[in-house]
Amino acid sequence: MSLVLVVEDEPAIAELVVIHLRHAGHEAVLAADAATAQARVDERLPDLVLLDWMLPGQSGVQLARRWRSEARTRELPVIMLTARVDEADKVAGLDAGADDYLTKPFSPRELMARIRAVLRRKAPQTLDSAVELADLTLDPATRRVSRRLGDASVELKLGPTEFRLLHFFMTHPERVHSRAQLLDRVWGDHVFIVERTVDVHVKRLREALAPAQASGLIDTVRGAGYRFTQQGGAAAQVVQLQAPVPAGKVTT
Ligand code: CA
Repeated sequence: MSLVLVVEDEPAIAELVVIHLRHAGHEAVLAADAATAQARVDERLPDLVLLDWMLPGQSGVQLARRWRSEARTRELPVIMLTARVDEADKVAGLDAGADDYLTKPFSPRELMARIRAVLRRKAPQTLDSAVELADLTLDPATRRVSRRLGDASVELKLGPTEFRLLHFFMTHPERVHSRAQLLDRVWGDHVFIVERTVDVHVKRLREALAPAQASGLIDTVRGAGYRFTQQGGAAAQVVQLQAPVPAGKVTT
């Protein structure tokens, strides 16, 4: 079930769309103008937005453009709904950051198919398959995390939140994520959780990674947030491989 925000000022269309969304098992919330839509997004980040182009006040295109420019909403999937059919308008909608475009009148079946496609594209690509990075393997199917250290493999024990956090980091490596972004992506935007919570779980995650000398993979970026970096892992491994050289042993 996904949370879909429907931004549409024509009540008949809005109602029809909401009925179909609920029928398909989604949760739907409505906004009839840009300001209300923004308030809904501030309140709770939806999984997808159906955004009408022509709205009273600020247009859907302006709204989409604003969302794309802000970190919290940058990756928010948007399908533009519009009566416009011009190629130039279509391009403007996609330029503004819409993921797809549907021209009115549209069939509910087509709309639902587009929604499924966009949600699939936006879902973490590796939701079920194992992720491997920096000798670390995380398998969502078995919930196991292990790290190769030389010839050995070290099993790691992670709590459920640390597991999700590591999964997110490993599927989005080498990028700095702010605490707010991590809350949105890992905690599912339960906005009542304070950002400090992220620090607590990052600390626990590092502790959980320590037995495999992998704590360094999670990098603190001062004033910005956290990042999973393979450099940290490489450094940790170099330390590991600097085993004491047997004294007095001479090879000829
Ligand atoms: Ca309209």
